Amino acid sequence: MILLRVSLLLFALLLSPVMRAESQSAGADVAHPASLASVATGPAFDLKGATDAYLATVPPDKKVRSDAYFEGGYWLQFWDFLFGAAVTIFLLQSRLSARMGDWAARVSSWRGVQDLIYFILFLLTVSMIQFPLLVYEGYVREHKYGLATQAFGPWIGDQLIGLAVTGVLGGIAVMVLYWVVRRLGKNWWVWGAVASIVLLAFTILIAPVYIAPLFNTFKKLENPKIRDPILSLARANGIPVTEVYEVDASKQSTRVSAYVSGFLGSERIVLNDNLLNRCTPEEIQSVMGHEMGHYVLHHVYKDVLFYGVLFLVGFAFLNWGMHWALARWGDRWGVHEITDVAALPLAALLLSIFFFVLIPLTNSWTRTQEYEADIFGLNAARQPDGEALVDLKLGDYRKLDPSPIEEMIFYDHPSGRTRITAAMRWKAENMSVLPPGTKAGGPQ
Ligand SMILES: [Zn+2]
Repeated sequence: MILLRVSLLLFALLLSPVMRAESQSAGADVAHPASLASVATGPAFDLKGATDAYLATVPPDKKVRSDAYFEGGYWLQFWDFLFGAAVTIFLLQSRLSARMGDWAARVSSWRGVQDLIYFILFLLTVSMIQFPLLVYEGYVREHKYGLATQAFGPWIGDQLIGLAVTGVLGGIAVMVLYWVVRRLGKNWWVWGAVASIVLLAFTILIAPVYIAPLFNTFKKLENPKIRDPILSLARANGIPVTEVYEVDASKQSTRVSAYVSGFLGSERIVLNDNLLNRCTPEEIQSVMGHEMGHYVLHHVYKDVLFYGVLFLVGFAFLNWGMHWALARWGDRWGVHEITDVAALPLAALLLSIFFFVLIPLTNSWTRTQEYEADIFGLNAARQPDGEALVDLKLGDYRKLDPSPIEEMIFYDHPSGRTRITAAMRWKAENMSVLPPGTKAGGPQ
C-alpha cells in the first residue's frame, strides 16, 4: 500500500498538481445608478463583509456535509498510513516477503527479472489486502457524499487500469532503483534520488498523452464562445497552446475541476465537463487564468526541483533506516541486504513514514503555488466574482472555512475563505477596470 502511496504521490504530482476548479453562474446583476455611486475602492470596500457574504450563500446543511467529508479525509490519511505500515510489517514478519523473493529467484536467474516478478507479486498482494479499504474510500464514501457518478463495475475497471499503470511504471522504477543499489554501492542513495527525479519527470511528460486517456476521453473544445476567450487569454500571457481540451470527468464524478499537465512540449490545458456544464463563461475564465498561472510561473519545473530535494533527503533517510532495521530484524525477516528485493516492503514503509511526516510541508508547498496561481489568475482574467463563485463550488468537496492551522496542515489548495478573500481584495483595488455596473462587495 505504501508503494501504492508513493506511486500515487507520483501520480498526484503528475495528474493533479495543478488541478483546480471553478464554480458557478454569476448572476449578471446590472447595478443601479445608486449602487454605482456607492462603488468604493480601497479601504472603504468591506473586504471581510464581502467574503462573509459569499460564504453565507452556502446552505448550512451543505456546509455541514462538505465539512464532514473533508474532515473525514484527515482521518483517512492517518488510517491509510497506519494500515499500509501494518501490511508491510506483516509481509516482513511473516517472511512472506522473503518467500516471494525466493520464488522470484527460482523463476529467473537475471536479477532485473527477479525484481520485476517480486514487485508484481508485492503489488498484487498489497492491493488485495487493501481492497476493502479502497472500496470504502474510493467508492462507498464518494457515493455517500454525492461526489461519485460511476457504477461499481466501471469503477473496478478504472481501478484495474490504475493497477496496471502502477505495475508498469512501478516495475520500471523498481528495476532501475535496484540496479542503482547494486551497482553504485555506498552512494546509491544519491543516484537513487537522481533516478527517481528522472522517472518522475518522465511520468509527468507522458501522463497527459499516454496515461490520462486510459481513464477518460479527451476532445478538443470546439465551442468558440468558450474556447476563443481562453486562447486569447493564453496568447496574452505568452502561452503557446493552440487547443483547449475537454475531458468527460462526469463519467466518474460530480467535481468541478480543470488542470494543466505535462511539460517539455506535452503541456495541455484541460477543462472537465462538470466545469463546462456548471459554470458561466466568467467563472471558466477565472479558472483558466489560474491554470495559466501554473504554466507561466513554471510550477511543474519547480515541483520537479522541490521533489528532487525531498527525494535526496528521503533516500538518505531510507539508506540509514534500511541498514539500521536490517541489522536489527534481518534474521527474523529472512532479509539481510538492502540489495535484496525482498526488503522492498521495508523501503516502502520507510518512505511512507518520511512522506507522512512531511504532509504539512508538501501540502504547504502545493498550496502556496495554488495561491500564486490564484493571484495570477485574478490579474489575468479579471473575474473576481467568477473566482469567488467557483471557490464556493469547490466547497462541494473542500471545507470552506477552516482554522489557519488546519489549513496549513491539511490543505493542498487554499481554503474557500482564503481564496474568496484574495478575490475580494483584488476586486476592491480594481473596481475601475471591471465592467460598468459591477457592484462593490460580495455576491452580485
Ligand atoms: Zn491550481
